[in-house]
Amino acid sequence: MTESAIPASSEPEPQKAESKMAEPATPEMRVGQSFDIHRYSDDAERTLMLGGVRFDGHRGLAGHSDADVITHACIDALLSAAGLDDIGQMFSDTDPAWAGADSIQLLRRAVDALRAAGWDPVNVSCVAVLDSPKLAPQRELMRQRLSDAVGAPVTVSGRTTESVGALGRGEGVAAMAAALVVRNPHSTASSDDAALAGQQDQRHT
Ligand SMILES: [Zn+2]
Repeated sequence: MTESAIPASSEPEPQKAESKMAEPATPEMRVGQSFDIHRYSDDAERTLMLGGVRFDGHRGLAGHSDADVITHACIDALLSAAGLDDIGQMFSDTDPAWAGADSIQLLRRAVDALRAAGWDPVNVSCVAVLDSPKLAPQRELMRQRLSDAVGAPVTVSGRTTESVGALGRGEGVAAMAAALVVRNPHSTASSDDAALAGQQDQRHT
């Protein structure tokens, strides 16, 4: 038996030219991510709000607004995706207007700002880190409230802490979110990007 002969030419075939078929226009999309954390409040009067849902009988979180950490994470992921000011700049924690604010209303305002800047939400995915209360019984309601405010699907999942660190000691609740937004081709937003898009996209009267 002889060893296999090495092919005369081991050069790879040259790549075939790309198809000349017209590619569909790719919508301009951007992703944003966020992290938020709130410690539990010493104020027994505060209600725990997560994803726009009241969790009666559980200690509330501390914050200038209703401290809804899940909704805040959704807001910041959307604002980040659109390159807008973050939640702290948009809703300052020294502004009395936002004292005790319903974060779902803040989310609606943030989405309004995002749309005004020429972006539409595609979806938001949020993960909350906490051991208690369990989110599962209220998860569908949270999804409905958040999706209704965003005008696009929002999913929420819960992750336990494995008793690690401050969250494992029950000192607070953290949440992370990712959001996808798409450029609205009909937007009249005046940002640089939108102005560019407007130059390329002749508008109908
Ligand atoms: Zn927050």
